[in-house]
Amino acid sequence: MIKSSLILFMFGSFLMMQAQLQKVEDGVSWDLAQKRKEKISAVKYNLSFKIPENKSEDILGNESITFVYQKVVDAPLQIDFKEKSTNIKSVSVNGISVTPKLENEHILIDPINLTQGSNQINIEFVAGNSALNRREDFLYTLFVPDRARTVFPCFDQPNLKAIFQLSLTIPKDWKALANAKLKDSTISLSDKTCHFAESDILPTYLFSFAAGNFKSHSAKIGSENAEILYRETDEGKIKNSMDSIYSIYNSTLNYYEKWTGIKYPFQANGLISIPDFQFGGMEHPGAILFQNSTLFLDKDATQNQLNNRSNLIGHEVAHMWFGDLVTMEWFNDVWTKEVFANFMADKSTGANIDPEVKALKFLTSHFPAAYSVDRSLGANPIRQQLDNLKNAGMMYGPIIYDKAPIMMQQLELLMGSENFQKGIQEYLRTFSYKNATWPDLIGILDKYTTQDLQSWNKIWVNESGRPFIDYKVKLKGNSIKSFSISQRPEFNDSKKLWVQTFPVTLYYADREENIQINLQKKEQKFVELKGKEKPLYIQLNASGIGYGIFKTDDQLISNFDKIKNPVSRASAYISTFENMLNSSGMTPEKALQFFVNRFSKEDNELNLSLISGYSSTIFWEFLKEEKRNALSSGLETTILKAMEGKAEKNQKKILWDCFQNVFLTQPAYNKAFEVWNNQKPPAGMTLNDDDYTNLANALALRSNDNSDILNKQLSRIKNPDKIARFKIVMQAVSSDKTTRDNFFYGLADKKNRSNESAIGSALYYLHHPLRQKISIAYLPKSLELLQEIQTTGDIFFPNNWLKGIFGYYQNPKALEIVNDFFKANPNYNSILKNKILQATDNLRRAQSLAK
Ligand SMILES: [Zn+2]
Repeated sequence: MIKSSLILFMFGSFLMMQAQLQKVEDGVSWDLAQKRKEKISAVKYNLSFKIPENKSEDILGNESITFVYQKVVDAPLQIDFKEKSTNIKSVSVNGISVTPKLENEHILIDPINLTQGSNQINIEFVAGNSALNRREDFLYTLFVPDRARTVFPCFDQPNLKAIFQLSLTIPKDWKALANAKLKDSTISLSDKTCHFAESDILPTYLFSFAAGNFKSHSAKIGSENAEILYRETDEGKIKNSMDSIYSIYNSTLNYYEKWTGIKYPFQANGLISIPDFQFGGMEHPGAILFQNSTLFLDKDATQNQLNNRSNLIGHEVAHMWFGDLVTMEWFNDVWTKEVFANFMADKSTGANIDPEVKALKFLTSHFPAAYSVDRSLGANPIRQQLDNLKNAGMMYGPIIYDKAPIMMQQLELLMGSENFQKGIQEYLRTFSYKNATWPDLIGILDKYTTQDLQSWNKIWVNESGRPFIDYKVKLKGNSIKSFSISQRPEFNDSKKLWVQTFPVTLYYADREENIQINLQKKEQKFVELKGKEKPLYIQLNASGIGYGIFKTDDQLISNFDKIKNPVSRASAYISTFENMLNSSGMTPEKALQFFVNRFSKEDNELNLSLISGYSSTIFWEFLKEEKRNALSSGLETTILKAMEGKAEKNQKKILWDCFQNVFLTQPAYNKAFEVWNNQKPPAGMTLNDDDYTNLANALALRSNDNSDILNKQLSRIKNPDKIARFKIVMQAVSSDKTTRDNFFYGLADKKNRSNESAIGSALYYLHHPLRQKISIAYLPKSLELLQEIQTTGDIFFPNNWLKGIFGYYQNPKALEIVNDFFKANPNYNSILKNKILQATDNLRRAQSLAK
């Protein structure tokens, strides 16, 4: 009895094990990835694609995958391929032709045909188009995070790195770039075949190529010539930008080689500038993709545009070490590569500039963006859970791009910069051309500090949110008797504690005094301040490195003109805005007044940009329509007067953009129309083609019949990529409701969403407050589409979709629609739900704030 049941039990469990191992599910599950990582190594892909000129024709592909296999169990091997089974033309395993079997996005290879040790699988296929970004006469691949498997069969997980050998057959007059150097090319009557050398060791998401009708330029990067492919047609922009692009690239590259102690780790450098790129950039070694409009600037570029360009190049080049050389084990740690790319970009681009400018750049570019998510009910921690790579795209957002660098700066302060750098160098050396997790890195950093990194890590990395920080000062006569600072989580969870460093600044009539403090507790006394002379007013976090909502001293605001340091002013502006949102400071109307009154006095470009942005946010999102109408005339006059008073044309331009954003009265319309119609900018300023396009859209939004404006603007645009973009946006701006309806309902069809960058802009116009009475009807359908958009679109599209749609609503009905949607979908994907909560946070706050 016992014996037989034991046999039965064993037999049963064996079957169960078989069933478990053979589970074939969509995407790449953590379980599948783990099992493959244990059994597969030394992967090499030999790939060739035949790319026809006409984008509607199929791209034929041919590959051989070689790998070493540990044949432990008799379960089929799963190769990822997310396409129709008819796309697979033939499969052979170790020379034996087999019948292709595709199940839930995987080609199943019978273990009978596999051997212990070396294996070779040959597959002929029709490449899937979804990650090839096929445009009229060019294409570029974008496989991050798990889209290589939509184009060709592969083991699509970041920790199965491989060598890629690529051949591309393309129309004869096209150009191509890929990860590896071009070995040779053969030309026939109508096309040519480019043979690339063996690539360095790469994960599938970094394998890439671009081909098409590009112009090309070549110059030195390091000691070798490197090519850039581009389609920009504005000669002024090309002339003004090319040298800068290469010099920023070179200087960041040099900086990283020195800082990491590791020479550039790949065989080639190459750049491709993509018009209407859906990302800012993508770090494929040897073939980095860049957003064209960020790279090519004219001579009147603003400081923000110049910063964005150097940040973008600095970011992508930093990835060569962070992400490309050392890759995350799984996409839950995708933030580690992003944080280092941003953090290093800030270091390298800041290496040769004034520390004050560097601090201001860091503050204004990361803090407002991080707060925009971290203050919401849908805030996510930096490190998230990920069950399947098909959901990896949802990991991205301002928390990993903006909060993580802030966290890293605090970590560097905590450890000391030298120890921090030594730790990072050891991490890069240890895991070169391999994979690592965040705990691997924290483990190494731990060796270089006496601080408790594990509990620090728990709050900053594994939890979301931020603290509200206040102070108490007791005086005795003319001096400070005691000074204490308290912190509590913004939302009620009393256990959280953010250990961090920031200064307390005491302002006096003739001087200011900064005392750096390290906040370790919920309530902490600082004896450093005891006995100091009584100040006129106090500022917390004047250097802007601290994270949270810092209570602002009323006296500081009324004496604002006396704050000389632009970083302290930026920090105070941010605190003013955050306290307004938190109902712990000024009302929206007062805050708007404060910011607008600063326009004429603020002489720092980044600060001016910051407060003009805050002003338009408050104007549209936190003032009721009647209030806006009542204030607009005065507001327009103040902005224009401040603009005229500025000497620098970039500052004029920032204020002109602000005016263009908020104007409502007829005289303002007439003024803007004249500028646009005569193509004659206001005195002392230049406007480029894109500026006139934006101005046309602003006018069109405010016009009852705008087809003349839009058609005239269309006829003025010369660049074909920009014409294509405008043709999308103008449908959303149209004064004709049927055109807008058709545009919106057309978005349900995937093919109408392919230019995600243009759709993002179009949505902003479609849902502009001046159009919301009608477009509120689009909200339920927009939410319904979100899930599909996440699966079919690129990684930033769900965020951009939601931001474009909900960015400017304050109507309680809009919030009701969101709440009804949650009620109707109780089991909705939690990450997407958080994204909706993030995008509708201002809408939620407006219910009590907007007056
Ligand atoms: Zn990046």
